Amino acid sequence: MVFNYHWNREEQQKYAEHRLFRFIRNYVHDFHPYYGKVFRETAFDPHQMNSYDDFRRIPLTTLKDFAADTGAFVLQKQEQTSKPTPAMRLNQVAESAAGVLAAFRSDSLGERRGIKQKLAERSFAEWQPIHYQWMAGEGKPLPIAYTLGDMKWPVSRVAAMLFLAGYRPGMRLLSLLPRSSAGWLQLLAAQWLVHPAISALYALDGTDHLQARADVLNAYDCEFMLGETAELEAWLAESAAAKAQGKAGLAGLKKLLVAQGLDGTGMLEMKKKLALAGAGDAQLLQGYGRPEMRALFFECAEGTGIHLNPEFFFWEVLDPESREPVKWGEPGVLTFSHCDWRGTVLLRYWTGDLIEGGLYWERCRSCGMIMPLAHTPIVALPAIGKAQAD
Ligand SMILES: [Zn+2]
Repeated sequence: MVFNYHWNREEQQKYAEHRLFRFIRNYVHDFHPYYGKVFRETAFDPHQMNSYDDFRRIPLTTLKDFAADTGAFVLQKQEQTSKPTPAMRLNQVAESAAGVLAAFRSDSLGERRGIKQKLAERSFAEWQPIHYQWMAGEGKPLPIAYTLGDMKWPVSRVAAMLFLAGYRPGMRLLSLLPRSSAGWLQLLAAQWLVHPAISALYALDGTDHLQARADVLNAYDCEFMLGETAELEAWLAESAAAKAQGKAGLAGLKKLLVAQGLDGTGMLEMKKKLALAGAGDAQLLQGYGRPEMRALFFECAEGTGIHLNPEFFFWEVLDPESREPVKWGEPGVLTFSHCDWRGTVLLRYWTGDLIEGGLYWERCRSCGMIMPLAHTPIVALPAIGKAQAD
């Protein structure tokens, strides 16, 4: 069954819960070193998990937990900790069947590879990390692992949410995301964004070589621009300077996607800068994401709330003090679980980000889709050590 963005909230939640529980039983329980250990230590049996209350017995994960051993959060096929379940056996049969089919297809380089070899390749594509995105946390760089399977399935489906913001293949998109995201974006471009729709020009760090970058930007005439506030502001300033010298500036820009939410003043400032750069008509859309979340989400139109993906993430909003779930629309700390990912997988991850405007799971007044909409401002709470109260 395919997820439907017109189901009501209860139907979507039921589906999300079902898929998450299946993922935890069939993958996390057996192949995730960290949670495998947590489940054993807390005598938590995912096969007995039937409700959200059961699921909430899994302790929250904090940045500190993750930073202590990032490798233990990567799904590892060889780490099977229990006997295969019937569902896993079925998976194995399906994999074998796919391997047999693949063996009849022509081989590259004129060399025939056997079924065994092709099965190994399939398994490699699903489980082996091929890309690491880096984030800073707990005073050190932390790797977030992506497999080819991630790029083909959840990442491309989550990235497709750019369509909600008006992106269409063939549009010129300029990414000013930090260097650490550039590889991610290029993989995405190869998988999904249809060349030459996207050109990920990641700039040199800092604000050096602005003139050279602005020249490239002016020649590129981008329609979509995506980045973090400081980088975007630097580019807009350069474009404004270019425009003052009689160059085109950013006349073709339709949308400016800011990777983190702005407050009212920040929005006004950014709009002023857009106008100076010749893009006064461009829409300014706010975004939210974290490297360990493995996604970046945006509004579909100004003021609609940030559209979160309910297919590959299980969302909770928890009271900052009691860590109990709050009602939809009430402020609380965004907590998420990955669903159907490989590579780095987090469950009940306490982001420490307070959704002050509340998370509403309802129909968007602009795009008409039903999904969780996070209303800004989103503010970071002071870091906490261990989320689960002792
Ligand atoms: Zn919308």
